[in-house]
Amino acid sequence: MPADPHSLRERLACADAYAAEHRLALTQLRRQVYALVAAARTPIGAYDLLSALEPERGRVPPTTVYRALDFLVEHGFVHRIESRNAFVACCEIGKPHQSQFLICERCGDTLEIPGEELAERLSSSPPAHGFEVHKQVVELSGLCSECKGKCPPAPRG
Ligand SMILES: [Zn+2]
Ligand SMILES: [Zn+2]
Repeated sequence: MPADPHSLRERLACADAYAAEHRLALTQLRRQVYALVAAARTPIGAYDLLSALEPERGRVPPTTVYRALDFLVEHGFVHRIESRNAFVACCEIGKPHQSQFLICERCGDTLEIPGEELAERLSSSPPAHGFEVHKQVVELSGLCSECKGKCPPAPRG
């Protein structure tokens, strides 16, 4: 299922509006990286972004792309999927939130489920154990509704 160009346009418009409102420097490169992440059907890694940028911008140094991604993550345009070392576009830019992610093991489809409730419950428990939380990642892997309905692949050999 290719990304819907209409929704990509909307996402870009939303990102532009958010950047303008908060005076964030959404430079051409950052915007381009955001557009690529938003258009990708599954989480996209930095190296895939580099090769996707090459036709338009030539060779971009990896550190430049990493810096653009840091900016986009920091300001909530995209989220980092830790287990895949890849990035997805946020489903609601501009609202600070904790998210959980459902990641399909077969097709890589990743669904963001924003919600503070679970995050709060998780983070309220560690202090009781004298533990200080620096980063909280909730990623669930399994099968998406589409893959679940498909027959398992034929056994090899
Ligand atoms: Zn989000
Ligand atoms: Zn799937």
